[in-house]
Amino acid sequence: QSCGTRSTGESDDKEYVGFATLPNQVHRKSVKKGFDFTLMVAGESGLGKSTLVNSLFLTDMYRDRKLLNAEERITQTVEITKHVVDIEEKGVKLRLTIVDTPGFGDAVNNTECWKPVADYIDQQFEQYFRDESGLNRKNIQDNRVHCCIYFISPFGHGLRPLDVEFMRALHQRVNIVPVLAKADTLTPAEVERMKNKIREEIDHYGIRIYQFPECDSDEDEEFKLQDQALKESIPFAVIGSNTVVEAKGRRVRGRLYPWGIVEGNAGLPLWGQGHGWDRLWALTPRPPQWRTRPTATS
Ligand code: GDP
Repeated sequence: QSCGTRSTGESDDKEYVGFATLPNQVHRKSVKKGFDFTLMVAGESGLGKSTLVNSLFLTDMYRDRKLLNAEERITQTVEITKHVVDIEEKGVKLRLTIVDTPGFGDAVNNTECWKPVADYIDQQFEQYFRDESGLNRKNIQDNRVHCCIYFISPFGHGLRPLDVEFMRALHQRVNIVPVLAKADTLTPAEVERMKNKIREEIDHYGIRIYQFPECDSDEDEEFKLQDQALKESIPFAVIGSNTVVEAKGRRVRGRLYPWGIVEGNAGLPLWGQGHGWDRLWALTPRPPQWRTRPTATS
């Protein structure tokens, strides 16, 4: 038998393999099945994590949250909680899981308070790998964490020791996206100063945060510029709000101050608006370094 290339030209278009339609088929299947996305939020309590999650996904993910008082927080250990919500938009289903870490950074002694978080992430990987090599591969529940948004306080002078410790312990395990919380409490110049300081420290301590992928070279110029601006603005300055206020005749999610209104997510203009989510979809739950880590024994 000779082994040559088979023409799929117009003359014999019945004889085709059909791989040209594969992307569509895969796409259709994924759309039908829906997507799983697991997002972890970490950082001290009170930095606006739940408010931002609710503003990003226009939902109330934390209906049954119990807030602790100061005394309870001092002795509390880090917990891992999960909130799951099914979101459907234009026929596309998204199963969104938010993993929260209440108690992180709250105690008097926060040494190794990243440990339960690291253990949780490792356990999800191990479970997935076990299921993947098991018999019931088709129905695997994938709980691996795609991304961890790490909230940095706007009230310090850059990173705190706890931030450095957390990010260094976790950067091999999960894609970390650092954000500067409650950016409306700083002036634009202060935001810039804080961002520069944080970038310097991330570099200095050898923290490997998530690197957004290069955009395709055939994208139009405007998209490329937006993409560049997005990358240069890391750590994103974020503002969350769950209140709808009226600004110049428009109803927006924002924070109302005596001097005016700050629109929510002002420092994060592209997230949640098509472009940004494309970037988040690009996050794989398995950071490139994962494979090189020794497999933990359980
Ligand atoms: P969490 O403990 O990190 O989940 O923080 P919360 O989302 O519960 O927010 C704590 C407090 O900060 C609440 O009173 C929020 O209204 C307020 N808050 C949340 N996000 C922002 C923000 O971006 N700017 C300001 N100024 N306050 C915020």
